[in-house]
Amino acid sequence: MRKQIAAANWKMNLTLAEAHELIDLLLQQPLSIEAHQQVLIATPFPYLIPIQQKLANSQIKCCAQNIASTQNGAFTGETSAEIVNSLHINYAIIGHSERRELFHEDHSVLALKVNQALAHSVHPVFCCGEPLAIREAGTQNSYVETQLTESLFHLDAEQMKQCIVAYEPIWAIGTGKTASSEQAQEMHAHIRAVIAAKFGSEVAETVSILYGGSVKASNAIELFAKPDVDGGLVGGASLNAVEFAAIINALK
Ligand code: PEP
Repeated sequence: MRKQIAAANWKMNLTLAEAHELIDLLLQQPLSIEAHQQVLIATPFPYLIPIQQKLANSQIKCCAQNIASTQNGAFTGETSAEIVNSLHINYAIIGHSERRELFHEDHSVLALKVNQALAHSVHPVFCCGEPLAIREAGTQNSYVETQLTESLFHLDAEQMKQCIVAYEPIWAIGTGKTASSEQAQEMHAHIRAVIAAKFGSEVAETVSILYGGSVKASNAIELFAKPDVDGGLVGGASLNAVEFAAIINALK
């Protein structure tokens, strides 16, 4: 079975003390994380080391929320995949809709970020997903397909296998409005078919496709039960230890 993944995206939240408190609480919850399951926590950059140290005896790993599109050099404020890898962090969110919208990251910049990640043994958690107007126009399949083809389809099959895809309809992020499990399954099956058409079905069956958009303890079981939904990328609910533990325990 491909990896079933619960990934927390803390975004720009929590002081260091609050972050420690949240992890302490999470580790006190009854968690069952099986060998085919993976839990990731995307912390703000300064917390990657202390939180990773805190998680050292657990099966939970830290993840970066972003990486630079370039290798190194005069890019004040940026953090490269090489730096992330040197911290022994091997996952990074790339192309979150907030990065696309607020920081104007386009397909070609995201392709460079994916290249940097893969060149430094960092698994991209590559986000895609349509805004409300596209969903209302019914053109979400081609919109998401373009996001995948423009930023991932220059890869070879082995590189594609290192990627995790997160489908996050923008209209469902932080809005409390979740895609129905049917809508999620429909898009995830489409994404898998698009990957299969380019890289072959063996690759498509290997790639975990996460759903993101107001995942909560109360909807995770139904969403994750769908055959092409391999877990979730979780924003708001990951800031609550009890909620996030229940989401972890809802993984297939
Ligand atoms: C996210 O930011 O990736 C996300 C899915 O947020 P939320 O769970 O709060 O909708």
